[in-house]
Amino acid sequence: MPQIKVVIVGAGFGGLATARALRNTPARITLIDRTNHHLFQPLLYQVATSVLTPGQVASPVRGVLRRQKNTTVILGEVTGVDKDNKYVFWSDADRENVPIHYNYLVLATGATQSYFGHKEFAQYAPGLKTLVDAVAVRNNILQAFEQAEAEEDPRRHRDLLTFVLVGAGPTGVEMAAALAILVRSTLKSEFRRIDPATTRIVLVDMAPRVLTDFSEDLSNTAKLRLQKLGVEVRLGHSVEHIDADGIIVAGERIVSKTVIWTAGVAPSPAGKWLNVETDGAGRVRVQPDLTVPGHPEIFVVGDTASLDQNGKPLPGVAQVALQQGRYAGRWIHNRIVGGAAPKPFRYFDKGSMAVVGKGFAVVQIGKIRLSGFAAWLAWAAVHLQFLATLNLRVSVFVQWVWTYITGQRGSRLIVKP
Ligand SMILES: Cc1cc2nc3c(=O)[nH]c(=O)nc-3n(C[C@H](O)[C@H](O)[C@H](O)COP(=O)(O)OP(=O)(O)OC[C@H]3O[C@@H](n4cnc5c(N)ncnc54)[C@H](O)[C@@H]3O)c2cc1C
Repeated sequence: MPQIKVVIVGAGFGGLATARALRNTPARITLIDRTNHHLFQPLLYQVATSVLTPGQVASPVRGVLRRQKNTTVILGEVTGVDKDNKYVFWSDADRENVPIHYNYLVLATGATQSYFGHKEFAQYAPGLKTLVDAVAVRNNILQAFEQAEAEEDPRRHRDLLTFVLVGAGPTGVEMAAALAILVRSTLKSEFRRIDPATTRIVLVDMAPRVLTDFSEDLSNTAKLRLQKLGVEVRLGHSVEHIDADGIIVAGERIVSKTVIWTAGVAPSPAGKWLNVETDGAGRVRVQPDLTVPGHPEIFVVGDTASLDQNGKPLPGVAQVALQQGRYAGRWIHNRIVGGAAPKPFRYFDKGSMAVVGKGFAVVQIGKIRLSGFAAWLAWAAVHLQFLATLNLRVSVFVQWVWTYITGQRGSRLIVKP
């Protein structure tokens, strides 16, 4: 009997969880990703603010799955799916639209940045989705200090040392606080013409409060903490314009050479490849067993899938992707070995967490609300646990302890291609 072929597209949280759940399955599994690494996105902001190096938040997929003999990893960009004939098409550096046949397909291609219809903002306000983005943001931040130090005219220092973050969700809040710590501790004594502590950090969001997914009290706690760190929090107004000189919000121009976008996400084109029903945001509407209607062999998981639970769409967070990936893997395994059908997918919400500067976090788990150092310890433990490999866990733990004690960061290099 020919061996069953499972193709997984995307080695993020969802795709990697699917592959791992299929480790003992008698099938030939192919995992395709356009990068060679599994990226731990929740810590990207720490690369952007120089706490961690890129190598501490990502691991080569091939290395992560080195013991999984039934799985082949391919570095390639998927460009389309022929769902009637069961082919996926991928391209790499020297070949285009190479077909690969599947019996089961799992699409776990995540999300990209959304500028809410203002694509022109992208060139002035880079987002934070990939390692390349994080290094580019780090370059921009460090470069701004270098330019200011080299600039004789003190009137220009203010513009160069104003950083604007658009989006007060977890990434914007964590990033603003980390930036405030960077300028007030690590960089403080290293410049002669400028005082990094005078840096202006502005966090902008159209929502009436920061961290809208958290309870109102935790959201207020986070806002107060940000303000204590010197971050200007501007809420209730959307950004009207972004250009090379900064942003316009509520009719006021904020002059800045460094604007960072953390506001919106748009799903991958999986819905277009499949030509199936999507939700308003473009995510593929899946059935309760995570398959696509009419195609029980195609699963879509994670940020690029849309599924309601208790009347609300599931959030685009790592836990949803992980749990859906595991579920899809087990379901495919059972179908191949003749096991029972699982119950419909149900997301188990383990809570939300965000760090707001050194040794301070807010944590919400069901009715439990926590803020401060204990919450930060919980945040640190959870994030270490979910890093893909043991060497990353050890390396990040050591770096955090070192940074906590000395204020020194993992990498403050400006590395341009
Ligand atoms: C900066 C940031 C911070 C975040 N912080 C948190 C947090 O604190 N807590 C939390 O729970 N969630 C957080 N999230 C969200 C979380 O990371 C996502 O929900 C999660 O990564 C979704 O997993 P996924 O598998 O759907 O997609 P991803 O993890 O994004 O993986 C998608 C994979 O598909 C690959 N891919 C995409 N398109 C193609 C293609 N055409 N061909 C081949 N490969 C392709 C990509 O390279 C990637 O490896 C954060 C996200 C970001 C960007």
